[in-house]
Amino acid sequence: MFRTIRIATCVSLLGLSGGWAATASAAELKAVASFSIIADFATNVGGDRVEVTTLVGPDGDAHVYEPRPADAVSLEQADVVLVNGLQLEGFMSRLIGTSGTKAPVVELTKGIEPLKASEEEHDHDDDGHEGHHHHGEFDPHAWQSIHNAEIYVKNIADAFCKADKAGCATYTANASAYVARLSALEGEVKAAIASIPAGKRTIITSHDAFGYFEHEYGLKFIAPEGVSTEAEASAADVAKLIDQVKEDKASAIFVENISNPRLIEQIARETGLKVGGTLYSDALSAKDGPASTYIDMFRNNISTMKAAILGS
Ligand SMILES: [Zn+2]
Repeated sequence: MFRTIRIATCVSLLGLSGGWAATASAAELKAVASFSIIADFATNVGGDRVEVTTLVGPDGDAHVYEPRPADAVSLEQADVVLVNGLQLEGFMSRLIGTSGTKAPVVELTKGIEPLKASEEEHDHDDDGHEGHHHHGEFDPHAWQSIHNAEIYVKNIADAFCKADKAGCATYTANASAYVARLSALEGEVKAAIASIPAGKRTIITSHDAFGYFEHEYGLKFIAPEGVSTEAEASAADVAKLIDQVKEDKASAIFVENISNPRLIEQIARETGLKVGGTLYSDALSAKDGPASTYIDMFRNNISTMKAAILGS
């Protein structure tokens, strides 16, 4: 049997029939997702028709990612490239150039209402130089609003429909079913937040990844690092944060899955707060972890916050 197939392949390579090799692999659209959260959305929309490759994997930090040679190969072979945009992926434009990919590069934050990056607390580097910015005008962490996630999903469905018209009905149906699950998730999140007393809603994380969460759901997040992890917090940033914690009476402090916990542990010691666990900010967990999908990430973050604040 195997021998027969090999012969058939050889015949097609000789030009007698050009179709065999092509039809064997044409069933799938190849999509590249810049990081794990986008990859999960793309998998939900694409189902079996789309093969999704992720550049920045579980627990990875897209702000400071260093591409591997294999990433250029993935891009070169892609039919669609899905990125967040708003200058999250600093590595991306150069990688796209190097790869020579002809695939459309789709920015999934298109159509969301971007929030301005808060500059005032982080507008200096370690030497105290003013105006040394390491990020764009806007906060890129738009996926921390479930409403925005629904826009990402619709943008992915549009991109897949353009690249694979035959699959469009499937992509549209998959996207609707997933958006319905996201809407239900948003109800759970709002109910969970409502159960936290108003005076206990200030939380410390390591970088400003939760601006959209704060805007949408009403907890207050403060962090020693700004909207990018690229610039490390200075001693002055940390001192200022500790003062702020005393004024605002922060209720809980968390490490992030993408960041070194050292700074948060130091702040916890100096403020007397106990580290309440790990929040998933810019990446999912590995498959066997508690946040391997976007929906599980949100549920896990909410239950971790509630447990630390309410002590349950
Ligand atoms: Zn971030």
